[in-house]
Amino acid sequence: MHEQSTDSLLTIIAGEEDAVQQLQVIHAQPSMLGEGPCWDADNRQLYWVDIESGHIHRLDVDTGQVATADFGQKVGAVALRQSGGLIVAAQHGIYLFDMETREQVRIANPEADLPNNRFNDGKCDAKGRFWAGTMSMNGEPGKGALYCIEPDHTVRKMVESVNLSNGLAWSPDNTVLYYIDSPTFRITAYEFHLETGELGASGVVAHIPENLGTPDGMTIDAEGKLWVAHWGGSRITRWDPQTGRQIGEIPMPVSKPTCCIFGGDALDQLYITSARIGSSDEELAAQPLNGAVFRAQPDASGLPAHKFGG
Ligand code: CA
Repeated sequence: MHEQSTDSLLTIIAGEEDAVQQLQVIHAQPSMLGEGPCWDADNRQLYWVDIESGHIHRLDVDTGQVATADFGQKVGAVALRQSGGLIVAAQHGIYLFDMETREQVRIANPEADLPNNRFNDGKCDAKGRFWAGTMSMNGEPGKGALYCIEPDHTVRKMVESVNLSNGLAWSPDNTVLYYIDSPTFRITAYEFHLETGELGASGVVAHIPENLGTPDGMTIDAEGKLWVAHWGGSRITRWDPQTGRQIGEIPMPVSKPTCCIFGGDALDQLYITSARIGSSDEELAAQPLNGAVFRAQPDASGLPAHKFGG
């Protein structure tokens, strides 16, 4: 692990004045495929991953110091553990990880028989279970799944025939799980039973117009409205799952925002990761911040991130 300074808090001065007035770059050094932002409220730190390089980054938002650990394989998402350290959804399974010692302990590998798959996005529910989904690295449709890892490390397959498992968010009352399988351009809601972790009936709550860009990572605010990052769409959008309507938007100066999460002491800041991968020289000339991490003031506040109980 190494520490580095970051040229943080560089305010963006281009774009629509009202929308960009408080959008900041908090880490300009680009990730190839920045993803999985996770807010550590206890330590005022932001974690995120670079899937392609297998790096896990941790930014102290007060000092601007960034610590980076090389996980040694593609890493899709991280979440905090209640007992300290991280749970990691990676190429070869689910791991417990210590950023300081770099100790890795694999606790699950439900797709050992699918070497072309890897884990992608993941997040914890209010009972300390870790939910993470998979995808084919070859883009094969329907090869992925969504899994639930219990604090005792038991693994259950919760959704089958997933194309590209992405955004996860639970309603504020923990009765609904919202889920994005990106190529479907839909946000699907599942009845969620918090005590058992079981899913019930499902239905589509929002159809995403393709011209907005592919729906990727997602979070939810305290009002139960969904915030979605649009890969290839240069925007974050806000949706009302009750009406299926888009009700807000943050234009981004990068083509591939990937995920967003609420952070800050009042959980009223939106941290946004982005990707540089696949950007042509022309795109990079026009969008030099592709791959940076941003912070927006979205005029909404989020819910605390849950930690893994195991
Ligand atoms: Ca993603």
